[in-house]
Amino acid sequence: MQQYDLAIVGAGVLGLAHAVHAAQSGLSVAVFDRSGVADGASVRNFGMLAIVAQRPGDELDSARRTLAHWQNFGAEAGITLRQAGCLFVGRTEQELAVLHECAANAGRHGQSFVPVAREDLGHYANGLRTDAALGGLWSKDAWKLDQRSAMAQLAQWLELRHGVTFYMGCEVRGIEAGVLDTAKGAVRAGRTVICGGSEFSRLFPDQFAASGVTTCQLQMLRTAPQPDGFQLSPFVLGGLSLPRYSAFADCPSLPDLRATLEQSRPREMINGIHLIAAQEDDGSITLGDSHHYGADAPPERLAEVDTLLLNEASALLALPDVTITQRWLGHYAHLAGKASLVLHPAQGVTAVTMVNGQGMTHGFALAEDVISELIG
Ligand SMILES: Cc1cc2nc3c(=O)[nH]c(=O)nc-3n(C[C@H](O)[C@H](O)[C@H](O)COP(=O)(O)OP(=O)(O)OC[C@H]3O[C@@H](n4cnc5c(N)ncnc54)[C@H](O)[C@@H]3O)c2cc1C
Repeated sequence: MQQYDLAIVGAGVLGLAHAVHAAQSGLSVAVFDRSGVADGASVRNFGMLAIVAQRPGDELDSARRTLAHWQNFGAEAGITLRQAGCLFVGRTEQELAVLHECAANAGRHGQSFVPVAREDLGHYANGLRTDAALGGLWSKDAWKLDQRSAMAQLAQWLELRHGVTFYMGCEVRGIEAGVLDTAKGAVRAGRTVICGGSEFSRLFPDQFAASGVTTCQLQMLRTAPQPDGFQLSPFVLGGLSLPRYSAFADCPSLPDLRATLEQSRPREMINGIHLIAAQEDDGSITLGDSHHYGADAPPERLAEVDTLLLNEASALLALPDVTITQRWLGHYAHLAGKASLVLHPAQGVTAVTMVNGQGMTHGFALAEDVISELIG
Protein backbone atom coordinates (compact mmCIF):
# COMPACT_ATOMS: atom_id res chain seq x y z
CA MET A 1 0.00 0.00 0.00
CA GLN A 2 1.34 3.48 -0.89
CA GLN A 3 2.20 5.52 2.20
CA TYR A 4 2.66 9.28 2.74
CA ASP A 5 3.23 11.57 5.70
CA LEU A 6 0.30 13.72 4.60
CA ALA A 7 -2.70 13.07 2.36
CA ILE A 8 -4.69 16.06 1.11
CA VAL A 9 -8.21 15.69 -0.23
CA GLY A 10 -8.94 18.42 -2.79
CA ALA A 11 -6.68 20.08 -5.39
CA GLY A 12 -8.25 23.55 -5.14
CA VAL A 13 -6.33 26.50 -3.75
CA LEU A 14 -6.68 25.31 -0.15
CA GLY A 15 -5.44 21.81 -0.89
CA LEU A 16 -2.50 23.07 -2.95
CA ALA A 17 -1.59 25.70 -0.33
CA HIS A 18 -1.42 22.94 2.30
CA ALA A 19 0.69 20.84 -0.08
CA VAL A 20 3.13 23.75 -0.58
CA HIS A 21 3.68 24.33 3.14
CA ALA A 22 3.85 20.62 3.97
CA ALA A 23 6.27 19.78 1.16
CA GLN A 24 8.46 22.72 2.15
CA SER A 25 8.56 21.29 5.67
CA GLY A 26 9.94 18.04 4.27
CA LEU A 27 6.78 15.89 4.45
CA SER A 28 5.92 13.39 1.74
CA VAL A 29 2.59 14.58 0.33
CA ALA A 30 -0.15 13.12 -1.87
CA VAL A 31 -3.09 15.18 -3.19
CA PHE A 32 -6.38 13.53 -4.23
CA ASP A 33 -9.13 15.10 -6.32
CA ARG A 34 -12.20 13.47 -7.75
CA SER A 35 -11.93 15.61 -10.88
CA GLY A 36 -9.35 15.14 -13.59
CA VAL A 37 -8.43 18.83 -13.20
CA ALA A 38 -9.43 21.11 -10.33
CA ASP A 39 -12.90 22.42 -11.17
CA GLY A 40 -14.24 23.79 -7.87
CA ALA A 41 -14.46 27.38 -6.67
CA SER A 42 -10.74 27.92 -7.23
CA VAL A 43 -11.14 27.98 -11.02
CA ARG A 44 -14.58 29.68 -11.04
CA ASN A 45 -13.72 32.93 -9.31
CA PHE A 46 -12.36 36.36 -10.30
CA GLY A 47 -8.71 35.56 -9.56
CA MET A 48 -8.75 38.52 -7.20
CA LEU A 49 -6.36 38.79 -4.27
CA ALA A 50 -8.52 41.30 -2.46
CA ILE A 51 -6.22 42.86 0.14
CA VAL A 52 -8.31 45.99 -0.36
CA ALA A 53 -11.47 44.33 0.99
CA GLN A 54 -10.09 43.33 4.39
CA ARG A 55 -10.76 44.77 7.81
CA PRO A 56 -7.58 46.05 9.50
CA GLY A 57 -6.16 43.55 12.00
CA ASP A 58 -6.02 39.75 11.63
CA GLU A 59 -7.95 39.75 8.33
CA LEU A 60 -5.67 42.25 6.64
CA ASP A 61 -2.56 40.53 8.03
CA SER A 62 -3.73 37.14 6.72
CA ALA A 63 -4.40 38.58 3.24
CA ARG A 64 -0.99 40.28 3.15
CA ARG A 65 0.73 37.08 4.25
CA THR A 66 -1.10 35.14 1.54
CA LEU A 67 -0.10 37.72 -1.08
CA ALA A 68 3.56 37.33 -0.08
CA HIS A 69 3.24 33.55 -0.59
CA TRP A 70 1.63 34.02 -4.02
CA GLN A 71 4.46 36.37 -4.95
CA ASN A 72 7.00 33.80 -3.78
CA PHE A 73 5.58 30.36 -4.68
CA GLY A 74 3.40 31.70 -7.48
CA ALA A 75 6.41 33.24 -9.22
CA GLU A 76 8.37 29.97 -8.88
CA ALA A 77 5.41 28.14 -10.41
CA GLY A 78 5.27 30.62 -13.32
CA ILE A 79 2.01 32.27 -12.24
CA THR A 80 1.78 35.91 -13.30
CA LEU A 81 0.36 38.31 -10.72
CA ARG A 82 -0.80 41.69 -11.98
CA GLN A 83 -1.20 44.53 -9.50
CA ALA A 84 -4.50 45.61 -11.01
CA GLY A 85 -5.70 47.84 -8.18
CA CYS A 86 -9.34 48.36 -7.36
CA LEU A 87 -11.71 51.25 -8.07
CA PHE A 88 -14.99 51.61 -6.16
CA VAL A 89 -17.36 53.94 -7.98
CA GLY A 90 -19.98 55.89 -5.99
CA ARG A 91 -23.20 56.89 -7.75
CA THR A 92 -25.11 58.31 -4.78
CA GLU A 93 -24.22 60.70 -1.95
CA GLN A 94 -24.58 57.85 0.57
CA GLU A 95 -22.17 55.63 -1.34
CA LEU A 96 -19.73 58.52 -1.57
CA ALA A 97 -20.02 59.12 2.18
CA VAL A 98 -19.02 55.49 2.93
CA LEU A 99 -16.11 55.70 0.49
CA HIS A 100 -14.84 58.91 2.08
CA GLU A 101 -15.20 57.51 5.62
CA CYS A 102 -13.19 54.46 4.61
CA ALA A 103 -10.46 56.67 3.11
CA ALA A 104 -10.33 58.81 6.26
CA ASN A 105 -9.69 55.73 8.46
CA ALA A 106 -7.30 53.97 6.13
CA GLY A 107 -4.03 55.76 6.89
CA ARG A 108 -4.11 54.61 10.53
CA HIS A 109 -3.96 51.00 9.41
CA GLY A 110 -1.40 51.35 6.65
CA GLN A 111 -4.02 50.91 3.94
CA SER A 112 -3.76 52.88 0.77
CA PHE A 113 -7.21 54.22 -0.08
CA VAL A 114 -7.32 57.38 -2.17
CA PRO A 115 -10.57 59.31 -2.70
CA VAL A 116 -11.08 60.12 -6.38
CA ALA A 117 -13.05 63.11 -7.66
CA ARG A 118 -15.47 62.44 -10.50
CA GLU A 119 -13.36 64.32 -13.04
CA ASP A 120 -10.34 62.17 -12.16
CA LEU A 121 -12.05 58.75 -12.37
CA GLY A 122 -10.95 58.30 -15.97
CA HIS A 123 -7.29 58.35 -14.89
CA TYR A 124 -7.85 55.10 -12.96
CA ALA A 125 -9.98 52.99 -15.32
CA ASN A 126 -11.09 53.12 -18.94
CA GLY A 127 -14.67 52.85 -20.12
CA LEU A 128 -16.28 54.24 -16.97
CA ARG A 129 -19.64 56.01 -17.19
CA THR A 130 -18.28 59.02 -15.38
CA ASP A 131 -21.42 61.05 -16.15
CA ALA A 132 -23.41 58.78 -13.79
CA ALA A 133 -20.72 58.75 -11.07
CA LEU A 134 -20.21 61.19 -8.20
CA GLY A 135 -16.71 60.02 -7.30
CA GLY A 136 -14.75 56.99 -6.24
CA LEU A 137 -12.20 55.32 -4.03
CA TRP A 138 -8.96 53.86 -5.34
CA SER A 139 -6.68 51.27 -3.81
CA LYS A 140 -3.60 49.73 -5.35
CA ASP A 141 -4.01 46.69 -3.05
CA ALA A 142 -5.68 44.21 -5.37
CA TRP A 143 -3.87 41.64 -7.50
CA LYS A 144 -5.15 39.62 -10.45
CA LEU A 145 -4.10 36.15 -11.50
CA ASP A 146 -5.51 33.80 -14.11
CA GLN A 147 -7.81 31.68 -11.98
CA ARG A 148 -8.25 29.02 -14.66
CA SER A 149 -4.57 28.25 -15.18
CA ALA A 150 -3.11 29.00 -11.73
CA MET A 151 -4.21 25.74 -10.07
CA ALA A 152 -2.72 23.61 -12.86
CA GLN A 153 0.54 25.62 -12.76
CA LEU A 154 0.80 25.28 -8.99
CA ALA A 155 0.08 21.54 -9.14
CA GLN A 156 2.67 20.97 -11.85
CA TRP A 157 5.29 22.90 -9.88
CA LEU A 158 4.49 20.91 -6.71
CA GLU A 159 4.91 17.67 -8.61
CA LEU A 160 8.15 18.59 -10.37
CA ARG A 161 9.84 20.73 -7.74
CA HIS A 162 8.65 19.08 -4.53
CA GLY A 163 7.80 15.53 -5.56
CA VAL A 164 4.15 15.83 -4.48
CA THR A 165 2.10 12.92 -5.86
CA PHE A 166 -1.23 13.77 -7.49
CA TYR A 167 -4.11 11.31 -7.69
CA MET A 168 -6.47 13.14 -10.05
CA GLY A 169 -9.82 11.66 -11.05
CA CYS A 170 -9.68 9.85 -7.70
CA GLU A 171 -12.44 10.33 -5.18
CA VAL A 172 -11.70 9.72 -1.50
CA ARG A 173 -14.69 7.75 -0.20
CA GLY A 174 -13.70 7.32 3.42
CA ILE A 175 -10.85 7.71 5.92
CA GLU A 176 -10.36 5.37 8.83
CA ALA A 177 -7.40 4.65 11.09
CA GLY A 178 -4.92 6.36 8.75
CA VAL A 179 -6.15 4.59 5.61
CA LEU A 180 -7.89 6.41 2.78
CA ASP A 181 -10.42 4.41 0.78
CA THR A 182 -9.97 5.93 -2.69
CA ALA A 183 -11.28 5.20 -6.16
CA LYS A 184 -7.76 3.96 -7.00
CA GLY A 185 -7.36 1.72 -3.96
CA ALA A 186 -6.29 2.09 -0.34
CA VAL A 187 -3.56 4.58 0.60
CA ARG A 188 -2.00 5.00 4.04
CA ALA A 189 -1.23 8.47 5.44
CA GLY A 190 0.19 9.65 8.77
CA ARG A 191 -2.24 12.54 8.66
CA THR A 192 -5.00 13.71 6.34
CA VAL A 193 -6.17 17.24 5.61
CA ILE A 194 -9.54 17.54 3.87
CA CYS A 195 -9.88 20.66 1.66
CA GLY A 196 -13.07 19.72 -0.14
CA GLY A 197 -14.42 23.26 -0.54
CA SER A 198 -18.23 23.26 -0.52
CA GLU A 199 -18.48 19.45 -0.58
CA PHE A 200 -19.65 18.28 2.86
CA SER A 201 -21.80 15.27 2.06
CA ARG A 202 -19.15 12.60 1.43
CA LEU A 203 -16.57 12.73 4.24
CA PHE A 204 -17.69 13.26 7.86
CA PRO A 205 -21.07 14.78 6.89
CA ASP A 206 -22.34 14.77 10.50
CA GLN A 207 -19.42 16.84 11.77
CA PHE A 208 -19.86 19.35 8.96
CA ALA A 209 -23.61 19.54 9.60
CA ALA A 210 -23.02 20.14 13.33
CA SER A 211 -20.73 23.10 12.51
CA GLY A 212 -23.61 24.92 10.77
CA VAL A 213 -21.60 25.40 7.56
CA THR A 214 -23.64 25.77 4.38
CA THR A 215 -23.02 26.62 0.73
CA CYS A 216 -23.21 29.84 -1.22
CA GLN A 217 -24.07 29.70 -4.92
CA LEU A 218 -22.81 32.47 -7.21
CA GLN A 219 -23.70 33.33 -10.79
CA MET A 220 -20.98 34.59 -13.14
CA LEU A 221 -20.67 35.92 -16.71
CA ARG A 222 -17.84 36.59 -19.11
CA THR A 223 -17.88 38.89 -22.16
CA ALA A 224 -16.12 38.38 -25.45
CA PRO A 225 -12.54 39.74 -25.60
CA GLN A 226 -12.84 43.52 -25.88
CA PRO A 227 -11.81 44.97 -29.24
CA ASP A 228 -9.00 47.36 -30.15
CA GLY A 229 -6.85 46.58 -27.12
CA PHE A 230 -9.42 48.05 -24.71
CA GLN A 231 -7.87 47.96 -21.22
CA LEU A 232 -10.13 48.25 -18.19
CA SER A 233 -7.04 47.83 -15.93
CA PRO A 234 -8.36 47.69 -12.32
CA PHE A 235 -11.13 45.68 -10.73
CA VAL A 236 -14.17 47.97 -10.90
CA LEU A 237 -16.89 47.74 -8.23
CA GLY A 238 -19.96 49.80 -7.38
CA GLY A 239 -21.95 50.79 -4.30
CA LEU A 240 -23.64 47.38 -3.93
CA SER A 241 -20.23 45.99 -2.93
CA LEU A 242 -19.82 48.24 0.09
CA PRO A 243 -22.08 46.26 2.49
CA ARG A 244 -20.35 43.03 1.41
CA TYR A 245 -16.74 43.90 2.30
CA SER A 246 -15.49 44.15 5.83
CA ALA A 247 -13.08 46.96 4.87
CA PHE A 248 -16.22 49.18 5.03
CA ALA A 249 -17.78 47.55 8.11
CA ASP A 250 -16.74 50.33 10.49
CA CYS A 251 -17.92 53.22 8.30
CA PRO A 252 -20.62 55.13 10.24
CA SER A 253 -22.76 55.67 7.11
CA LEU A 254 -22.84 52.00 6.12
CA PRO A 255 -26.07 51.03 7.99
CA ASP A 256 -27.93 53.90 6.29
CA LEU A 257 -26.58 52.89 2.90
CA ARG A 258 -27.63 49.28 3.46
CA ALA A 259 -31.15 50.36 4.49
CA THR A 260 -31.43 52.57 1.40
CA LEU A 261 -30.25 49.80 -0.92
CA GLU A 262 -32.80 47.41 0.58
CA GLN A 263 -35.53 49.95 -0.24
CA SER A 264 -34.31 51.18 -3.59
CA ARG A 265 -32.75 48.03 -5.06
CA PRO A 266 -34.68 45.12 -3.51
CA ARG A 267 -34.08 42.64 -6.34
CA GLU A 268 -30.32 43.16 -6.23
CA MET A 269 -30.28 42.82 -2.43
CA ILE A 270 -32.52 39.70 -2.40
CA ASN A 271 -30.26 38.04 -4.96
CA GLY A 272 -27.12 39.17 -3.15
CA ILE A 273 -25.86 40.98 -6.21
CA HIS A 274 -22.85 43.23 -6.35
CA LEU A 275 -20.74 43.95 -9.38
CA ILE A 276 -17.09 43.07 -9.80
CA ALA A 277 -15.68 43.62 -13.29
CA ALA A 278 -12.28 42.05 -13.93
CA GLN A 279 -10.37 41.93 -17.19
CA GLU A 280 -8.72 38.66 -18.19
CA ASP A 281 -5.49 38.23 -20.15
CA ASP A 282 -7.38 37.63 -23.42
CA GLY A 283 -9.23 40.96 -23.02
CA SER A 284 -12.56 39.44 -21.95
CA ILE A 285 -14.29 40.83 -18.86
CA THR A 286 -15.48 38.59 -16.04
CA LEU A 287 -18.64 39.98 -14.42
CA GLY A 288 -20.26 38.77 -11.20
CA ASP A 289 -21.75 37.95 -8.86
CA SER A 290 -24.85 36.92 -6.91
CA HIS A 291 -25.21 35.08 -3.59
CA HIS A 292 -27.82 32.42 -2.71
CA TYR A 293 -27.29 30.45 0.48
CA GLY A 294 -28.05 26.82 1.34
CA ALA A 295 -31.54 25.64 0.39
CA ASP A 296 -32.36 29.10 -1.06
CA ALA A 297 -30.04 28.46 -4.01
CA PRO A 298 -32.03 27.89 -7.19
CA PRO A 299 -31.29 24.60 -8.99
CA GLU A 300 -30.15 26.44 -12.11
CA ARG A 301 -28.97 29.83 -13.27
CA LEU A 302 -31.58 32.63 -13.00
CA ALA A 303 -32.18 34.81 -16.04
CA GLU A 304 -33.15 37.66 -13.71
CA VAL A 305 -29.71 37.57 -12.07
CA ASP A 306 -27.95 37.85 -15.44
CA THR A 307 -30.15 40.84 -16.29
CA LEU A 308 -29.47 42.57 -12.97
CA LEU A 309 -25.72 41.96 -13.29
CA LEU A 310 -25.67 43.31 -16.85
CA ASN A 311 -27.75 46.35 -15.86
CA GLU A 312 -25.33 47.14 -13.05
CA ALA A 313 -22.35 46.60 -15.36
CA SER A 314 -23.74 48.95 -17.96
CA ALA A 315 -24.57 51.58 -15.32
CA LEU A 316 -20.90 51.61 -14.29
CA LEU A 317 -19.12 50.81 -17.53
CA ALA A 318 -19.46 51.51 -21.25
CA LEU A 319 -17.78 48.33 -22.50
CA PRO A 320 -17.12 48.24 -26.25
CA ASP A 321 -18.48 44.66 -26.51
CA VAL A 322 -21.05 43.27 -24.05
CA THR A 323 -21.57 39.98 -25.89
CA ILE A 324 -21.72 37.33 -23.17
CA THR A 325 -19.76 34.26 -24.22
CA GLN A 326 -19.65 32.29 -20.94
CA ARG A 327 -22.01 31.78 -18.00
CA TRP A 328 -21.29 29.60 -15.01
CA LEU A 329 -22.20 28.87 -11.40
CA GLY A 330 -19.70 28.63 -8.54
CA HIS A 331 -20.08 27.42 -4.97
CA TYR A 332 -18.16 28.12 -1.83
CA ALA A 333 -18.60 27.15 1.80
CA HIS A 334 -20.30 29.73 4.00
CA LEU A 335 -20.53 30.20 7.75
CA ALA A 336 -21.79 33.61 8.87
CA GLY A 337 -19.37 35.64 10.98
CA LYS A 338 -16.37 33.37 10.39
CA ALA A 339 -13.49 33.41 7.90
CA SER A 340 -12.43 29.78 8.20
CA LEU A 341 -13.57 26.51 9.72
CA VAL A 342 -11.08 23.94 11.02
CA LEU A 343 -12.57 20.65 12.23
CA HIS A 344 -10.91 17.54 13.67
CA PRO A 345 -13.51 14.92 12.76
CA ALA A 346 -11.34 11.85 13.49
CA GLN A 347 -7.94 10.92 14.86
CA GLY A 348 -5.29 12.22 12.42
CA VAL A 349 -7.83 14.03 10.22
CA THR A 350 -8.23 17.82 9.90
CA ALA A 351 -10.86 19.45 7.66
CA VAL A 352 -10.00 23.00 6.56
CA THR A 353 -12.56 25.20 4.84
CA MET A 354 -12.64 28.91 3.97
CA VAL A 355 -16.15 30.05 4.82
CA ASN A 356 -16.08 33.72 3.76
CA GLY A 357 -15.69 33.28 0.00
CA GLN A 358 -12.12 34.56 -0.06
CA GLY A 359 -9.93 31.47 -0.33
CA MET A 360 -7.69 32.96 -3.02
CA THR A 361 -6.98 35.92 -0.73
CA HIS A 362 -6.42 33.97 2.51
CA GLY A 363 -5.66 30.36 1.55
CA PHE A 364 -1.87 30.33 1.90
CA ALA A 365 -1.91 31.97 5.35
CA LEU A 366 -4.59 29.60 6.66
CA ALA A 367 -2.72 26.57 5.31
CA GLU A 368 0.55 27.82 6.79
CA ASP A 369 -1.07 28.00 10.25
CA VAL A 370 -2.67 24.57 9.93
CA ILE A 371 0.53 22.86 8.76
CA SER A 372 2.69 24.49 11.40
CA GLU A 373 0.26 23.32 14.07
CA LEU A 374 0.17 19.79 12.62
CA ILE A 375 3.93 19.41 12.61
CA GLY A 376 4.36 21.22 15.91
C1 LIG B 1 -17.88 32.70 -8.21
C2 LIG B 1 -16.82 32.82 -7.14
C3 LIG B 1 -16.01 33.95 -7.09
C4 LIG B 1 -15.02 34.05 -6.12
N1 LIG B 1 -14.13 35.09 -6.20
C5 LIG B 1 -13.06 35.07 -5.36
C6 LIG B 1 -12.00 36.01 -5.54
O1 LIG B 1 -11.94 36.74 -6.52
N2 LIG B 1 -11.03 36.07 -4.57
C7 LIG B 1 -11.00 35.18 -3.52
O2 LIG B 1 -10.12 35.32 -2.66
N3 LIG B 1 -11.92 34.22 -3.41
C8 LIG B 1 -12.93 34.13 -4.31
N4 LIG B 1 -13.87 33.15 -4.21
C9 LIG B 1 -13.73 32.14 -3.15
C10 LIG B 1 -12.64 31.12 -3.48
O3 LIG B 1 -12.74 30.74 -4.84
C11 LIG B 1 -12.81 29.91 -2.55
O4 LIG B 1 -12.78 30.34 -1.20
C12 LIG B 1 -11.68 28.91 -2.76
O5 LIG B 1 -11.50 28.64 -4.14
C13 LIG B 1 -11.98 27.61 -2.01
O6 LIG B 1 -10.92 26.74 -2.31
P1 LIG B 1 -10.98 25.21 -1.88
O7 LIG B 1 -9.69 24.61 -2.32
O8 LIG B 1 -11.36 25.10 -0.44
O9 LIG B 1 -12.23 24.59 -2.68
P2 LIG B 1 -12.42 24.17 -4.20
O10 LIG B 1 -11.66 25.04 -5.13
O11 LIG B 1 -13.89 24.08 -4.41
O12 LIG B 1 -11.74 22.74 -4.30
C14 LIG B 1 -12.26 21.64 -3.62
C15 LIG B 1 -11.80 20.39 -4.38
O13 LIG B 1 -12.04 19.25 -3.56
C16 LIG B 1 -12.41 18.18 -4.42
N5 LIG B 1 -13.09 17.19 -3.57
C17 LIG B 1 -14.12 17.40 -2.70
N6 LIG B 1 -14.44 16.25 -2.07
C18 LIG B 1 -13.60 15.29 -2.55
C19 LIG B 1 -13.43 13.90 -2.26
N7 LIG B 1 -14.20 13.25 -1.37
N8 LIG B 1 -12.47 13.21 -2.94
C20 LIG B 1 -11.68 13.84 -3.85
N9 LIG B 1 -11.81 15.16 -4.15
C21 LIG B 1 -12.74 15.89 -3.50
C22 LIG B 1 -13.29 18.83 -5.47
O14 LIG B 1 -13.31 18.05 -6.65
C23 LIG B 1 -12.58 20.19 -5.68
O15 LIG B 1 -11.66 20.16 -6.76
C24 LIG B 1 -14.87 33.02 -5.16
C25 LIG B 1 -15.70 31.91 -5.20
C26 LIG B 1 -16.66 31.78 -6.19
C27 LIG B 1 -17.50 30.54 -6.25
